[in-house]
Amino acid sequence: MTVVMDANPLFSEIKERIKSDVETLKKRGIKPGLAAVVVTEDAISHTYVFFKQQDCKEVGINSVMVDLSKTNSSIRESEAIKTLEELNIRKDVHGIITQMPFPDFVDAEKIFDTLSPDKDVDCLTPFRLGKLMRKEYTYDKSLLPCTPRGVVELLNHYKIGVAGKDVAIIGRSVLVSNPLRKMLEDMDATATCYHTKSKSLVEKIKQADIVVSAVGRPPEMYEENSFRLTGDMIKDGAVVVGVGVRKDMATDKLYFDVDFDSVKGRASFVTPNIGGVGLMTRAMLLNNTIIACKNLSGIK
Ligand code: NAP
Repeated sequence: MTVVMDANPLFSEIKERIKSDVETLKKRGIKPGLAAVVVTEDAISHTYVFFKQQDCKEVGINSVMVDLSKTNSSIRESEAIKTLEELNIRKDVHGIITQMPFPDFVDAEKIFDTLSPDKDVDCLTPFRLGKLMRKEYTYDKSLLPCTPRGVVELLNHYKIGVAGKDVAIIGRSVLVSNPLRKMLEDMDATATCYHTKSKSLVEKIKQADIVVSAVGRPPEMYEENSFRLTGDMIKDGAVVVGVGVRKDMATDKLYFDVDFDSVKGRASFVTPNIGGVGLMTRAMLLNNTIIACKNLSGIK
């Protein structure tokens, strides 16, 4: 029997805890704040930011939105840098997100070199990534990347031990796959990132105890390098975590990495495509905002 790793109960539990943290902080005269700087025109990214703002509202975190997506492309990068410099020093802003992906004319390196690591709740600055690489972090006091941490929390919630397990992560990004690989390795798993140039990918996936798919190239939308994880690609009893999702803007349809129906029945655990990792990512962003707020306010 396959257990579906529904994230809804954990999402609600985390939001309740954060609401209570916000109340405690407010009693000390501190109101946590999260700012979003949006340079992308990508519609689904705007939807993500909308959800993140709604979540903030629900738990009492102040949210600030700076939408630069309609700013002329020739000055968008410099405007984003100016905005980040202002937000870096604002006392009422404790976390800042710069919604990815960036358009080609915006240099990610310049953006992440400007963003204050103390407010980097997506953990994309060299400082935050360095802290992760050096294993200089704790789960209660450090900013950790939201989606990888969300995956780890979900595995913990369902009491899925990772120590000694072989984990196949499909994808090698800085946002999701590589930080997750490092976090799982720090938990004594043997985690490997696979990508478009990996040889015998299916064979490797079949050997893994845990498979995390973070690709986002559904066959319905891509002819080249498309990917879908189906039940016949995993070993019996494997744990399957689906991260990748893509929205077809023409049809408004969402396509997911994991073919849930064929995986269910073969896997021991599988995330639902809706109500799985997406919710955990949102929960961890709220959590990081509180951690950043406490750290910046000198609260132990
Ligand atoms: P990304 O930077 O585009 O990385 C995608 C990775 O997939 C790349 O490393 C790429 O390999 C690999 N890949 C592409 N096609 C492949 C194939 N056919 N076989 C094997 N590997 C392949 O994306 P990302 O930022 O990591 O995000 C991944 C997905 O997760 C996206 O769909 C994104 O929307 C989704 N996401 C979801 C959440 C959530 O909360 N659910 C949060 C963040 C991201 P190469 O490096 O060789 O090109």
